[in-house]
Amino acid sequence: MGRVYNFSAGPSTLPVKVLQRAAGELVEYGTSGQSVMEMSHRSAHFEEIIAECEALLRELMGIPSGYKVLFLQGGASTQFAAVPMNLMGENGKADYFVTGMFSGRAAKEAALYGKVNVVATGEGENFSRMPDIDAAKLDPGASYVHICENNTIYGTRFTKLPDTGAVPLVSDMSSCILSEPVDVSKYGLIYAGAQKNMAPAGVTIVIIKEELLGKALPYTPTMLNYEVMAKNDSMYNTPPCYPIYVCKLVLEWLRDDIGGLAKMGEINRRKAGALYDFLEESSLFNATTHKPDRSIMNVPFITGSKEIDDKFVKQAAGAGFVNLKGHRSVGGMRASIYNAMPEEGIAALIAFMKDFEAKNK
Ligand SMILES: *Cc1c(COP(=O)(O)O)cnc(C)c1O
Repeated sequence: MGRVYNFSAGPSTLPVKVLQRAAGELVEYGTSGQSVMEMSHRSAHFEEIIAECEALLRELMGIPSGYKVLFLQGGASTQFAAVPMNLMGENGKADYFVTGMFSGRAAKEAALYGKVNVVATGEGENFSRMPDIDAAKLDPGASYVHICENNTIYGTRFTKLPDTGAVPLVSDMSSCILSEPVDVSKYGLIYAGAQKNMAPAGVTIVIIKEELLGKALPYTPTMLNYEVMAKNDSMYNTPPCYPIYVCKLVLEWLRDDIGGLAKMGEINRRKAGALYDFLEESSLFNATTHKPDRSIMNVPFITGSKEIDDKFVKQAAGAGFVNLKGHRSVGGMRASIYNAMPEEGIAALIAFMKDFEAKNK
């Protein structure tokens, strides 16, 4: 079997070119005589890799000066605790939008460290649409406002950011970072587990406004303290060297092969648009989400029959379209179509779905 089209929600597909480059350098990186997996994180070679990775991220996302970029471990889930430990100290309370499973987990974790005010929840409608953003419900005395920008499991997203005034906005961008341009200056903190759109699992990115550093609660573990990590350029201890290296290759691909985030956004909107258009006209498949709130990264859909859903997932896998089974909390199917999913993959999936539809009417 050749390479499949992999619609996994994460870890997810990486650009073939990046995999080939990594394979070519696996045993010897440049003229270093060693693999990136083997080298000291204090070596000149690795210093260069992590510095380039950060510079590329700054260039692609337009990260302003006055923001620190951190390369951490523990996944986005560790940030559910690190964010309140580092930011809650200000006023002891924070506002959370609960728009899916991950933001629910983030709110629950934050409540261990301060007072959490859930300003909106989409739970009543099984998160199939975004709740109204009512700025009047936001507490001007909150330490921060937390959102999950793209809801990986349910396939919805914020299309407009809440206006938080002077209160810092914190965003979990795990499943949408680098998918289109964002205005970083609107955020106090952005975090993302890298395994959706940036790199293999193992590195977590935090982009934080410098003025938010230095407020950690006294019992914050050293390893979760952003100020310590910032002062040490993410090298207080051993960073996840290999995922950082692959992240650098992905960022080079984004810049050189794709042409930057505006181009990436265009391609992603085209990919998602083609799939949603097909779901609209299909007599078998239906999208599960409210149209204006639809994610361009994660597309859940159903047939209405569990039996046909299961048959579809199975036949699709046999034809080389893998990981289409939906999350257990939604059922049905989900196509995660991150940056590295090529447009041909979407076209091939739609053709397969059309064929399946014709045979299963
Ligand atoms: C995948 C995901 C997480 C969890 O990430 P881990 O790195 O596995 O902890 C959190 N938030 C969002 C939005 C995600 O997509």
